[in-house]
Amino acid sequence: MSFPTIRARRTRQSDVWRRMVRETRLSPDALIYPLFVVPGEGVRHPVSSMPGIAQLSVDEAVKEAKAAAESGVPAVLVFAAPEHKDARASAALDPHGLAARAITAIKSACPRLSVWADVCLCGATDHGHCGHVLPDGAIDNDASIQTLAQVALNYARAGADAVAPSDMMDGRVQAIRRVLDRDGYSMTPIVSYAAKYASSFYGPFREAAESAPAFGDRRSYQMDPANAREALREVLLDVEEGADLVMVKPAGPYLDIIRQVRDAVRVPVVAYQVSGEYSLIKAAAERGWIDERAAVLETLTGIQRAGADLIITYFAPEVARGLRA
Ligand SMILES: [Zn+2]
Repeated sequence: MSFPTIRARRTRQSDVWRRMVRETRLSPDALIYPLFVVPGEGVRHPVSSMPGIAQLSVDEAVKEAKAAAESGVPAVLVFAAPEHKDARASAALDPHGLAARAITAIKSACPRLSVWADVCLCGATDHGHCGHVLPDGAIDNDASIQTLAQVALNYARAGADAVAPSDMMDGRVQAIRRVLDRDGYSMTPIVSYAAKYASSFYGPFREAAESAPAFGDRRSYQMDPANAREALREVLLDVEEGADLVMVKPAGPYLDIIRQVRDAVRVPVVAYQVSGEYSLIKAAAERGWIDERAAVLETLTGIQRAGADLIITYFAPEVARGLRA
């Protein structure tokens, strides 16, 4: 049977039909909101390349987290840009460091909000790389994962509901799981940035997180945008090491990866709609070139349709409010 007996338009001829046969439904429950924490008090420093996003001192981050929770967003992802940076990433290891204080403060102000902690060294190292650097400039993978595990433990102790290693070192999920389990945090999930690409779309974030590397680039640990099989290998390795959720980052240019990962694993898949994806939409909308609200919903729906169970996005509170309205 074919046309004219078959007419695909029958089930999209009215709003009620379109509502009923819709395959992908965005919900605030799927959204996670990133927060950038900086030192000081009463600080709300706008990130110029990300209109609507600011670097926040701990007290302001608490306010922002509360507002996100009220909008219906279930989780925030905390990034910190501490003042003190050194080769050992001491600030990330400090139980009274910026990230730990932010996690504790947000958790105590919003006990029902899930507080995820980004675990990496780049925000706290003077060279801005995600791992320790050897004298010849190479990354010391195996020393880095020991430090990352201690950072994750520090954040779990501070009250984080999940730790999210974003460094892309080999073996870090296993190292973190061991340390968390040994120290009484066997119930703290690991959200692994499993397929994190060396992407040009991180540009605006680096302004916000003050984490641009001082020399070289991150291509020896983040993935080549050309590779898909390697992403599946990375993801499967992380699941084997004990990742509870796996992430693909960025989201929009990697929808095929999200789909392949969704089909390959049985754990929840998270996609990160990164700063550049956010800024592109904001910039075009500011010029009146696209309808911001429609574009945001379309990108998030596309990411979910591709297979993401959860989406980290700077649009989270705004979208959650819109979905509930
Ligand atoms: Zn990093």
